[in-house]
Amino acid sequence: MAYPRVLSDLIHDLKQIPGVGDRSAERYAFSLLEMKTEIVEDLVEKLSDCRNNLHPCEVCGHITDKDICDICSDSSRNQNIICVLEDYRSVIAFEKAGNYNGVYHVLNGLISPIDDINPEDINLSSLIKRVEELEKPELIIALKSTIEGQTTTLYIQKIFENKKVTLSRLSYGISMGTEIDYLDEITLDRALNDRKKIE
Ligand SMILES: [Zn+2]
Repeated sequence: MAYPRVLSDLIHDLKQIPGVGDRSAERYAFSLLEMKTEIVEDLVEKLSDCRNNLHPCEVCGHITDKDICDICSDSSRNQNIICVLEDYRSVIAFEKAGNYNGVYHVLNGLISPIDDINPEDINLSSLIKRVEELEKPELIIALKSTIEGQTTTLYIQKIFENKKVTLSRLSYGISMGTEIDYLDEITLDRALNDRKKIE
């Protein structure tokens, strides 16, 4: 092997990052080796800070380093409109699009019986509790249009039917299975504005 063992271990670990293959892992490892010691130490510290301090918000499930995230604690946002998303990446995509003034609820997964992921395995019970406490809640379900996304949407629809909740779902003329966080800001914005009411 051309590398010292510690270096080949580092390359091996870098390849665990999705999308990083042999060549990129090698390039990252070499770049890291050539950086100043204090920059690398700072990077290691930040990485460890993120790992140790980020956790789901007690209210919405979005990642935060506080008990309650900045979005939930922002009194200028409309707490009666809740956009239901699969993961924190989707929240970040919506926030980047920048025109949504409601709050979110992050499920941290989708119902998938085939993978043995059931309703109780995702962040749903806190959504039910949250909605019950609101006077005129509106739920915007913004899950991807895969089987899992549709199953979860239907399940949520069933929970809230015949309750005082306005339900709508994101409309987007995009291909099946597109991840919300891959949508560009304009498409996401349009999908939000054209949301379809679920009767
Ligand atoms: Zn929150």
